Amino acid sequence: MTDCVFCKIISKNIPAQILYDDENILAFKDLNPVSPVHFLVVPKIHIADTDEINDKNKHLIAEIFKTIPLICRNLRISNGYRVVNNCGEKAGQTVPHIHFHVLGGRNFKWPPG
Ligand code: AMP
Ligand code: ZN
Repeated sequence: MTDCVFCKIISKNIPAQILYDDENILAFKDLNPVSPVHFLVVPKIHIADTDEINDKNKHLIAEIFKTIPLICRNLRISNGYRVVNNCGEKAGQTVPHIHFHVLGGRNFKWPPG
């Protein structure tokens, strides 16, 4: 999808501060962090949102969740972090390429509101 900002980051057409990069997934710092640590993890293929997860692409989501703890260990936030996925406009999704926010470096409230 050519007008997708995250596809452009993946194809290196726009810059990002990359924390992890392999064949299938990319992690980079959020442009507008809401906690001392705030990065996004995305599959390199364009999946619009959580509703689009299926049997063919579900392994990418598993890979993302296998990689998150490794990145958190590197960033020394293993003692507490939050993973957030917004699915759809009502939930606050602004970029229609599935992504998982990882937030750390502070305490969090529950419920999030
Ligand atoms: P969401 O509201 O869940 O769709 O989250 C989208 C996130 O992408 C927001 O936290 C934005 O700050 C972030 N974002 C948008 N554009 C960029 C970009 N070019 N580089 C890094 N993060 C971005
Ligand atoms: Zn995309």
